[in-house]
Amino acid sequence: MNTTRIAAMVLAAVMTAGCATDVPTHAPEDDLAHLWVKTSADYAALTRQIYGVAQRDLERFVADTSWSAIPGQTDAEHLPPAVILDVDETVINNVSFQVSFERPFSDRKLEMWDREHVAEPVPGVVEFITAAREAGVATFFMTNRPCEKYEDETEQCPQKQTVIDGIRELGIDVEPEFVMLALERPDWTGEKVGRRLTIAENYRVIMVIGDDFADFVPCARKRFHPPCTEPATRASRAADVDKYAEYWGNGWYILPGPMHGSWTRFR
Ligand SMILES: [Mg+2]
Repeated sequence: MNTTRIAAMVLAAVMTAGCATDVPTHAPEDDLAHLWVKTSADYAALTRQIYGVAQRDLERFVADTSWSAIPGQTDAEHLPPAVILDVDETVINNVSFQVSFERPFSDRKLEMWDREHVAEPVPGVVEFITAAREAGVATFFMTNRPCEKYEDETEQCPQKQTVIDGIRELGIDVEPEFVMLALERPDWTGEKVGRRLTIAENYRVIMVIGDDFADFVPCARKRFHPPCTEPATRASRAADVDKYAEYWGNGWYILPGPMHGSWTRFR
């Protein structure tokens, strides 16, 4: 064996070892994003602050029947008011799953975790939903957890009942028609704008609440879905922050999402 070939083998071994150690099987114990959500008072204070602002805005937006938080929704004065909430890290706090699941992430790992654990709330959400319903506002839960059948199970969309159970475990009652998953209908893609417009056919949407930029802004993902035709970029997302400036904290309420989300594709 010549020295060149030996060197190549040594290099390959080093690179392989490097790859293995570059992919943690769990979140590092000192990962600041996970630690912050799990342990800091700041996180809970911030989510309560955001839900508190939204709660105070309820009365104003219910009364102003010309208002909609869906750009382009007009002539909705006669429709009943509704709010749209994302689910993960908006209603259900998944930090216990996030710090413990074996990487890489899969939707099924989250599904199995949820079947075995009692859901935890994002601080402030229960009080907000109670206030919204007392004000006569319908509450929709829109998640990008996908409807998908597992080969070893019979249910076509077991994820839907799991999400409903999780929300109910927080003390929030919810009926199935107010929970919308990706792929639940053929035209309900991972792009949420279609589902928002479906709700807007029958409701005046006064608020949108989420932890991901794409919970609010159409076509804000790198991995895009119909009706979007091209990937977002860091520049397009930055421009959209300004384009929709009037909505932030005024109909759109964005919670912190440091552990995961569409933003991670733009590093
Ligand atoms: Mg979320």
